[in-house]
Amino acid sequence: MQATICGSPGCGAVPVVQWRRRPTAAELDVIVRAEQARRDKARLLADPALPTPQFGPLPTAADVVISVYGCTKHHVTLAAAALVHSAACLAPDPAHLTNCCTPEPVASSPSTGQVAMTTLATGWTVPAVPTVPSPPTPPLVQPSGPATLP
Ligand SMILES: [Zn+2]
Ligand SMILES: [Zn+2]
Repeated sequence: MQATICGSPGCGAVPVVQWRRRPTAAELDVIVRAEQARRDKARLLADPALPTPQFGPLPTAADVVISVYGCTKHHVTLAAAALVHSAACLAPDPAHLTNCCTPEPVASSPSTGQVAMTTLATGWTVPAVPTVPSPPTPPLVQPSGPATLP
């Protein structure tokens, strides 16, 4: 398991921001090969008495996102971190932090605008965590006094 570090060349600091970008052709090739190998193995190990495992189409660049990590010095803006960047995006390379690429527009969601937002101490505005009603408190059992003999 590779440690997650800031993606800026030569930085290696602990990341604090994560965003996504599309895979390069080489990255997609690795992902597709791994998925094909997983499917081949699943077919090989499948119980012949059961129907052959069926799989959907192999992933394409439109299905895959690569996580990019940035430290406190090397990161895109919060607005840009919410978007999917292009495969050629070089952020968090310091030379490409501003106007790194043209990120994909956000897919409109029917719930957008209806989500309650809250502002954190860091100044970031995030969806508010829905408040779950706390379970009713069980009534306290009054300890009975010392038993008195008649
Ligand atoms: Zn960094
Ligand atoms: Zn970008």
